[in-house]
Amino acid sequence: MPGVNLLLAVDAPRWTMLAASDERLAATLTTREETLGRPLFEVFSDANPENDRPTGESNLRTSLETVVRTRAPHRMAVQRFDIRRPDGTWEVRHWAPRNVPVLGPDGAVRYILHHVEDVSEVVRRTEAHAKLRSEYVVSEDARHELEGANELLRDQQLELEMANQQLQEQHADLEIQADELRVAAAALEERTAEAERARAEAEAVRARTDAVLASIGDAFYLLDREWRFTHVNAAAELLLKTTAAALIGRTLWDAFPDVLGSVFERPYREAMASGRPTSAEAFFAPLLTWFDVRSYPWPGGLMVHFRDVGARHAAEAERERLLVAAEAARADAEAERARTAGILEAMADAHFVLDADFRFVSVNAATERNLGHTREQLVGRSIWELFPGTVGSIFERSYRQVATAKVAVHFVGEYEEGGLTLVPEVDAYPTPDGGVAVFWRDVRAEVQAVAERERLLAAAEAANRVKSEFLAVMSHELRTPLNAIGGYADLMEMGIRGPVTEQQREDLGRIQRSQRHLLGLVNEVLNYAKLETGTVSYELADVPVRSALTEAEALVVPQARMKGLVFEAIDCPDDLVARADPEKLRQVLVNLLGNAVKFTESRDGQPGRISVSCAPDGERVRIAVRDTGIGIAMDKLGAVFEPFVQVRATLTRTAEGTGLGLAISRDLARGMGGALTVESEPGVGSTFVLVLPRA
Ligand code: ADP
Repeated sequence: MPGVNLLLAVDAPRWTMLAASDERLAATLTTREETLGRPLFEVFSDANPENDRPTGESNLRTSLETVVRTRAPHRMAVQRFDIRRPDGTWEVRHWAPRNVPVLGPDGAVRYILHHVEDVSEVVRRTEAHAKLRSEYVVSEDARHELEGANELLRDQQLELEMANQQLQEQHADLEIQADELRVAAAALEERTAEAERARAEAEAVRARTDAVLASIGDAFYLLDREWRFTHVNAAAELLLKTTAAALIGRTLWDAFPDVLGSVFERPYREAMASGRPTSAEAFFAPLLTWFDVRSYPWPGGLMVHFRDVGARHAAEAERERLLVAAEAARADAEAERARTAGILEAMADAHFVLDADFRFVSVNAATERNLGHTREQLVGRSIWELFPGTVGSIFERSYRQVATAKVAVHFVGEYEEGGLTLVPEVDAYPTPDGGVAVFWRDVRAEVQAVAERERLLAAAEAANRVKSEFLAVMSHELRTPLNAIGGYADLMEMGIRGPVTEQQREDLGRIQRSQRHLLGLVNEVLNYAKLETGTVSYELADVPVRSALTEAEALVVPQARMKGLVFEAIDCPDDLVARADPEKLRQVLVNLLGNAVKFTESRDGQPGRISVSCAPDGERVRIAVRDTGIGIAMDKLGAVFEPFVQVRATLTRTAEGTGLGLAISRDLARGMGGALTVESEPGVGSTFVLVLPRA
């Protein structure tokens, strides 16, 4: 068969190639050996990788199947089916295929005749034409577009020109506006400066106002139209007893709910309503005082001044009270003056009043006697008229001091003038009107008595001195013959002058005892005389008190034993030390202990007791000697320390003594910086206390 033909077996999906025309083989660049007996699509496929539309194979299968099914020929659209060259490269080919069934006797499709026409050239030309056409269409479109664009450009240019014109116009406008703005800015600047000046001025005014407000001594505050505090000064804070901070922003009745009705509200409302200031005084109960309240309305509200006038109210009340009191006092004073005048008149002492020129204004009866002038002579005359000599000038001087310095003056003096002797004790006082009031007492008798006493004392002292000196000399003179008596008696008793009979020995004993007694007395007298004339010297040392007491006690124990008296244990700390002359301390202690033994007896079968104690007393040492003896009567307690004093001398005749022991002891105690005192009760006992400085 002429044409490009291929016979296929109906053995899908192989579609085995059974026969091929020569044209077919040439068109597909294949040989019969390469083709026959092999599946169609093993040889012819869309295997060219450059084919971007590999649909030939699948379209062909579909067509073949359609032919088998329909048993009718099927013409396919032009297909691209590339051919592989023997060197392996590909050749692009387009085919127009027609598949025709070959039916068997039974009507079934036995073969399919695949017939194609190579339309590659046609396709190539068509494609080239189409390309040209399309390019032309594109350039046509471009031309149209260009024309449109040109038109647009023209339009736009027109618009631009118009816009430019407008811009220029606007620019001119803007220039004008800018000029205007510059002018406005300048004006504004000026106004700003003005505003600044105004602000500064306002600030200054405000500062001035604040200063003025602060300087107002009166309390005040400002309320706005809603009755809120807007300013409260320091004085108001003080009076209301609160702070500005606590009030500002609060309303009046919020701050003072309780007093509003009574004090503030009515005058405030009046002031607010009438626009005129009001003033009222009211009692401000919370602070218990009166306030003078003045309200001044102003556009911003109300300015309120108030003063605490409590003091004035109190002062008025007080003045009232004082007036009444003064009246009463005046009446009292009148009565008092009358009474005083009576008393002054009756007074034994002179009393007179001088005016500022020292003229007598008033005198009492005693003045007449004292100054030797009658009332009529005195009143209205000055002091130097009455006493033109020295007396007048002396008094004048004293009184002038009183009147000018306003001081009281006291003096005692003795004056003589005109045959009159004045011995007054004067008390002069200033009077309110520049004069002098004088109390004048005649002390002539007293002065004389004092002088007499002093004279007597001096005489007594002189006599005492003479006596002491006499005693000293006498004692000394007496001791020499007494010692001689003793010495010769001893010689005789020892038998040196020859044998002594028993009777003679007894007599000698009496002579010796009398000699010793007499010598003792003389020694004491000498001692005392020495003390009195101040010729005793003290050698002070630290003396342990306890051992001093023990030592002194030992000396009197034998006498005490003889009288059956009991010595109690010495009650005295070991470490207590006194500052004293040891010898003189011993003398005092022996005297006190000796007296205790001498004046104590056993009574009602009870032995008399003597106790000695010592104790520290601050910077001092107290030594007490106590007995249960006869005691000393109250009125004699002071006298026992006087020299030569012996209480109930007749009763103590048996006891030896001179009455000098205690006088000497007290002088010695004082000489060592101490003291000697006594407490006693007759019939109970006595306690002598010796005080000495502590070491
Ligand atoms: P004298 O003992 O030598 O008489 P004093 O001066 O020692 O002298 O004593 C004076 C007088 O004080 C004594 O005569 C006596 O009357 C009284 N007197 C002293 N000590 C005591 C005493 N302890 N108890 C009672 N009387 C005393």
